[in-house]
Amino acid sequence: QAKALGRGRYEFFDVALRERMQRRLRMEQDLRDAVHSGQLWPAYQPVVDLPTGEMVGVEALLRWTHPVHGAVSPAEFIPLAEESELINEIGKFVLRDTTREVASLRSARGLDLSLKVNLSVRQLEDPQLVPAVRDALATTGLPPSALCLEVTESALMRDEVAAAEVLAALRSLGVLLAIDDFGTGYSSLAQLRRLTLDTLKIDRSFITGIADSRDAAAIVASIIAMAHAVGLTVVAEGVETAEELALLRQLGCDQAQGYHLGRPLPAAELFAQ
Ligand code: C2E
Ligand code: MG
Ligand code: MG
Ligand code: MG
Repeated sequence: QAKALGRGRYEFFDVALRERMQRRLRMEQDLRDAVHSGQLWPAYQPVVDLPTGEMVGVEALLRWTHPVHGAVSPAEFIPLAEESELINEIGKFVLRDTTREVASLRSARGLDLSLKVNLSVRQLEDPQLVPAVRDALATTGLPPSALCLEVTESALMRDEVAAAEVLAALRSLGVLLAIDDFGTGYSSLAQLRRLTLDTLKIDRSFITGIADSRDAAAIVASIIAMAHAVGLTVVAEGVETAEELALLRQLGCDQAQGYHLGRPLPAAELFAQ
């Protein structure tokens, strides 16, 4: 009897695993089609300058409206894309589409808006990345200084030497570079300084709760001081309350993003006012 039970369990896991793998394969195939059928689109979240309270930029955050499953989170589909080579195709689509959209917003409304685009580690390894960025700028007329490319701390640390080379090539195009999700990886200040970045984004996990905890606020204060000491602009991610915003302003943080300031929205909605 024990044997039968064991066998039943084995089959149960087998079925569950097979179903999970089938969903992944299906989603990967769907994602492949999504790129060409307009199901992928960038939402834009405002980046606010703290001293003036003005929107100085927008971060493009990719959205997937699946024909059957509806909204699929980037937390699910970006890793899926990163496992295949799809992320490079998707990344190029994001660069083309967002530079076009923001360049036309800038000229239609006379806004001095900067665009933040996320890059994954796989894109840093793609020899076509630098030409793709150059082409997007040339085609749309977006000034290079109005484009900021965000790379996570863990992506930069995977192969520091190779990353430094790509970042230098991007920098020579005149674009700005940001380290995203700072504090979640293991980079040292010395490594950050070598990479000659422009902006440091403090991960949301450090911002949550700063208004209620002296220790949490002290940590953020020291990150800001450290970043300023090496000439970086500091952006706080995930600001959800007026208290957090007030404290960040008091601590001398330069810019902020978060639901309290604005959720990611389609361009037409964000600029409808
Ligand atoms: P990220 O670049 O660190 O983006 C910030 C994430 O926090 C976004 O999640 C945003 O919607 C969310 N967020 C913003 N403000 C708040 C807040 O106040 N509270 C909370 N709880 N969340 C907030 P999202 O849009 O789900 O994107 C997740 C991640 O997916 C991004 O993290 C980024 O790493 C990746 N991603 C998104 N779009 C792209 C893309 O076009 N290319 C690549 N390579 N990665 C992307
Ligand atoms: Mg980002
Ligand atoms: Mg982030
Ligand atoms: Mg993140």
